[in-house]
Amino acid sequence: MSQPPPDVISDDCLRSYSYLFCPDILRDKVAFITGGGSGIGFRIAEIFMRHGCNTVIASRNQQRVTDAARKLIAATGQQCLALSLDVREPHTIAVAVDLALKKFGKIDILINGAAGNFLCAASTISFNAYKTVIEIDTIGTFNVSKIIFEKYFKNHGGVIINITATLDYRGQALQVHAGTAKAAVDAMTRHLAVEWGHNNVRVNSLAPGPISGTEGMRRLGTHQPNWDRNILGSPLQRVGNKTEIAHSALFLASPLSSFVTGTTLVVDGGSWLTYANDFMKLLAIETFPSKL
Ligand code: NAP
Repeated sequence: MSQPPPDVISDDCLRSYSYLFCPDILRDKVAFITGGGSGIGFRIAEIFMRHGCNTVIASRNQQRVTDAARKLIAATGQQCLALSLDVREPHTIAVAVDLALKKFGKIDILINGAAGNFLCAASTISFNAYKTVIEIDTIGTFNVSKIIFEKYFKNHGGVIINITATLDYRGQALQVHAGTAKAAVDAMTRHLAVEWGHNNVRVNSLAPGPISGTEGMRRLGTHQPNWDRNILGSPLQRVGNKTEIAHSALFLASPLSSFVTGTTLVVDGGSWLTYANDFMKLLAIETFPSKL
């Protein structure tokens, strides 16, 4: 049985780290990470920086990314630029990308991690809440990809990793908004891989399963009916952790995956294959958006 690498539940850096990949596999690279101030995006930033990468972490809340950057710099000794943007607003993205290019002179890797989610039935979700999730997850991913492509990747190549999900694979109840949004991103991954391959841009999706120490898990996970049974009944019989997702992102960002494009790497311990989609029980515990 596979053993997970150590992780910490909070948005803090790892207390210690044992290298599995070559420590300088991303030396002098620059990664632009939306949603890099928290959860999975924060850990991707940390693991990339531990492998020699400098990062730009960007989301709406400037204080959140500023605090995160301070921790990341202290733990890794690499550079991290904290910027505010809203992936729904192209002009805010353009300003942030210009600032990133001014500081580092280049961008090698884009991680589209920004997203919003909550549990809600299709029959009760408001039109606005549904639209907001599509705007952040799907349109936001397109906006950032297009702007970085036009400003840098078109002439220099690059790597795009879109963080998606397995929600749509079996029509997960209470997740029509996020499932639809992420399915569209997986489709976008294939379209952009085709159109931008000749610009030496690789585009892939990374679809995590349930991941401990994340906002996603806090909102969607443990209060669901039969949660423990679902997890223990999954092939690897546990949830994943943020470091495991970051290691998979590291593979997709690095030359180890130089011939990989247009695909989705599912990193979920096999759970989507066995997870009970008990929609009647799920409909009974429906909650409503709290943060949008
Ligand atoms: P998280 O910590 O809430 O990360 C989401 C990030 O997106 C936040 O840092 C948030 O920062 C940013 N964001 C939200 N709306 C934005 C906007 N309009 N513009 C710019 N940034 C925005 O959640 P997480 O659980 O780690 O999830 C990270 C990614 O993994 C997401 O794409 C999620 O769908 C995916 N995923 C997670 C799981 C899981 O188990 N956690 C499973 C499958 C997929 P601000 O509030 O500062 O904007």
